[in-house]
Amino acid sequence: MQVHTVGEGDPGVAVVGAVHGDEPCGARAIERFLATDPEVDRPAKLIVANERALERGVRYVEADLNRALPGDPESDLYEERLAHALTTEVAGCLSLGIHSTVSYDEAFANVAYLNDRKREIAAHLPVTSIVDFTAVSDGRSVELPGFVDIEAGHQGSEEAVDNAYDCLVAFLRTTGVLGGDPPTPDPGLYAVDEAIYKEPTRTYRVHAENFERVAPGETFATVDGDPLVADDAFWPVLMSAAGHDTLLGYRSTYRGPLSTGGDPTADATGAADRASDATDD
Ligand SMILES: [Zn+2]
Repeated sequence: MQVHTVGEGDPGVAVVGAVHGDEPCGARAIERFLATDPEVDRPAKLIVANERALERGVRYVEADLNRALPGDPESDLYEERLAHALTTEVAGCLSLGIHSTVSYDEAFANVAYLNDRKREIAAHLPVTSIVDFTAVSDGRSVELPGFVDIEAGHQGSEEAVDNAYDCLVAFLRTTGVLGGDPPTPDPGLYAVDEAIYKEPTRTYRVHAENFERVAPGETFATVDGDPLVADDAFWPVLMSAAGHDTLLGYRSTYRGPLSTGGDPTADATGAADRASDATDD
């Protein structure tokens, strides 16, 4: 793990890249930021987390770091020890983790256990959507207090590096590390309800678009040519035939713009309806 510090004192802000080694955009965005020799108003740390996996161009070496938090310093597995080191490094920090996907080209943010600090960070990222993973968080960094992740775009693309850099700068403005105002895009909030699993030996094709509503009765994917039909309406998130061995993606519910939505007990249809006509609540 590489930890670069900008500014003087003990940082309360962290940016974390390369949690997954085959998603280099975060490490590249950190390099780009450090190369500007930035002037900062408060200190921050820039962390390249999984150097071994990054060098090899693989998601992980022994275990998925983003399912291993908070980790275990005594574990036999490299990423479980690394997860403990990372958790310790970001303890008490407002943190931005940077990822990329094979399922969607635009930047979006991931959160869990949304609180005021996370809401403030998420509200000022240049993204179109925020995904709440609380229902399936399972050892992800977004479970940590003060931690928000972004998916910066398509894995390995230059656009993902540009998006990651823009999100990094916006985050450092929101947290007062950099001067200037961050953007206020008011992204839509999607709450993940459940994972949709794959059978590894079968061939999947996805027909639905991520973040676009799938209607009841609609075929959202095929498996060996047979339709997978939605019983109830949902909004696909991270859905891709190629992204993962056992996971097709997630079902989510649209909750409306972040500024008006986000109450997990709210009636989802009502929230989406309210969001679509006005922001009058
Ligand atoms: Zn990732």
